[in-house]
Amino acid sequence: MSAQPAIRVLFASSEVFPLIKTGGLADVSYALPKALHALGLDVRVLLPAYSSVKAQLSWVKTDIKIPLFSFLHQAPATILEARLPDSDVPLYLLDCPMLYQREGGPYQDGMGNDWADNALRFGLLSKAAALFGEHQFDFKPDIIHCNDWQTGLTPAYLHYSPRSQAKTLISLHNVAYQGVFGSEVMGLLELPPASFGMYGLEYYGLVSFLKAGIYYSNWITTVSPTYALEIQTPTFGYGLAGLLAGRKQQLTGILNGIDDHWNPHTDPYLAQNYDFSDQLKQDKFANKKALCDRVGLSAEINTPLIGLIGRLTYQKGIDLILPVLDQILAEKVQVVLLGSGDKGMEQQLQALASRYPQQLRVTLGYDESLAHQIEAGADLFLMPSRFEPCGLNQLYSMRYGTLPIVRHTGGLADTVTDVTPCHLDAGSANGFVFAEETPEALLQTVRRALVLYRCPELWHTLQRHGMQRDLTWTGRAAEYLSLYQQVKGDDFSGSSI
Ligand code: ADP
Repeated sequence: MSAQPAIRVLFASSEVFPLIKTGGLADVSYALPKALHALGLDVRVLLPAYSSVKAQLSWVKTDIKIPLFSFLHQAPATILEARLPDSDVPLYLLDCPMLYQREGGPYQDGMGNDWADNALRFGLLSKAAALFGEHQFDFKPDIIHCNDWQTGLTPAYLHYSPRSQAKTLISLHNVAYQGVFGSEVMGLLELPPASFGMYGLEYYGLVSFLKAGIYYSNWITTVSPTYALEIQTPTFGYGLAGLLAGRKQQLTGILNGIDDHWNPHTDPYLAQNYDFSDQLKQDKFANKKALCDRVGLSAEINTPLIGLIGRLTYQKGIDLILPVLDQILAEKVQVVLLGSGDKGMEQQLQALASRYPQQLRVTLGYDESLAHQIEAGADLFLMPSRFEPCGLNQLYSMRYGTLPIVRHTGGLADTVTDVTPCHLDAGSANGFVFAEETPEALLQTVRRALVLYRCPELWHTLQRHGMQRDLTWTGRAAEYLSLYQQVKGDDFSGSSI
């Protein structure tokens, strides 16, 4: 792939690994800019200067003050310059202490409540991205790459700011989260009243940041080809299916890749680094043992261990697991789960864990090192999502020789190929897939996987199919690059519906 340094991309995101992360968006916002930079693009990342991010980086204050909203005129936002960790990619931090300097998460306080001023916080981020090139900066982006609702207003601001030549592309990492606020935010956000309509950002009398992004951007991507089709249907479109179907000519699904820090060969969190080899079972057992020691289980080389990491939500199908967890544990397996989310699900899981102290361990919270150790130490990884835009954990699992058990949806359908005789002959089988959204279908598939666990040669072959697959970002970044070129050269602007 030839380098295209002529394209300048501003990548705007509300979370970037390892600085601040609530999910896959952070992983993508780190790895994709790095991979684009490696292809020769001038790509720079824009992120709010959350207190925790400022504390982790060395940054330099620029003299660029952006008077983004009139209510902020006493304290305009400032741009701080830094670098993405372990890379040469420039990182701009949007500093506005009144909005970003506080204890808590990027979207919620410590009690799990959304910040009451999220419309302003992410309206500011959106507007800063849109007007970036207009300030006394030497960097004038050709493409502003927006991500999810938090930067959904960027294309709207640009639409009403004809001085900028930049084109916009919005990536939808999860259409279920839309950033919908009361109409009273219109005045504060200083968007023209004309934008508040069906042909604009209005959504049933409210303001939808995500609708704005989909409606006004030049191009839309989502994170897997199957999810790109699914979101055009009522079940997956969460109220935006019609708009998305109307823009299907400008809607592309590009799978996420995985960054090299998810590499069992070099992963510093692992007790034993490894790669695909005849030693795989022993290498993985060293990691299983370390994982079991850490969580308080006793490791057995021939006892299958099932891992699960993620948000404990309806989306992730946790409620499909709960009714059959007793039956799964009756199969003499161990289960290690890491996650947080729905309080009811957390309580049910903890109650089950106390009933099965030898077999089930539940760690509530967020823990990067434990996530890596589960991927390395487990034999199977459970991901029964109801919908999954791309999913990263099944990709990490494949890379770590841990066979995924997934529902056939979105990116899971695009990346996991079920063990069937046909797929085995074709050399593509790399996991276990079920279609029906029921606990029984999940249970049957777990049982099917456990039967094959007793066939070591076949298991080793399945591990190889996953471990040797190219899951890197390089190819995906090249797909984004050709899309940027197309969007840059295109005079298409905004929605035609
Ligand atoms: P989503 O973005 O929908 O939450 P993805 O599978 O796309 O799901 O990405 C989730 C990312 O967050 C993965 O990198 C996963 O390892 C990580 N993750 C999720 N929950 C936790 C947790 N409790 N501790 C550590 N990492 C987590």
